[in-house]
Amino acid sequence: MHELSLMENVVATLRASAAENRIKKITRIQLVVGKLTMAVPEALQFAFEVFKEEDLFKSAVLEIKEEPVRGECKECQHAFEIKDYEFLCPSCSSPQVKLVGGRELYIDFYEGD
Ligand SMILES: [Zn+2]
Repeated sequence: MHELSLMENVVATLRASAAENRIKKITRIQLVVGKLTMAVPEALQFAFEVFKEEDLFKSAVLEIKEEPVRGECKECQHAFEIKDYEFLCPSCSSPQVKLVGGRELYIDFYEGD
């Protein structure tokens, strides 16, 4: 399962950061997930449940913010959201589109004490 390995990485990052900041319990996590990662938010939530046995994550709420796939036209610099993998500029119809968003997966912030 793709989402489980993604969550393993997220959880490892949180463990390290919490240890560094002497945080014993994490209460809230905000994750930013680009649509191109193909990670399904429900599956990420489900994968996160696996780690809830750990004291650190017992009372943590996972919030997922989905980022759309975004492109920028190399011809006219128009920035837009790419839908249905149509890599064509809606402004000038150029296929010279640079991918600028949608591949990200990172922890925006987390709270705890
Ligand atoms: Zn264009």
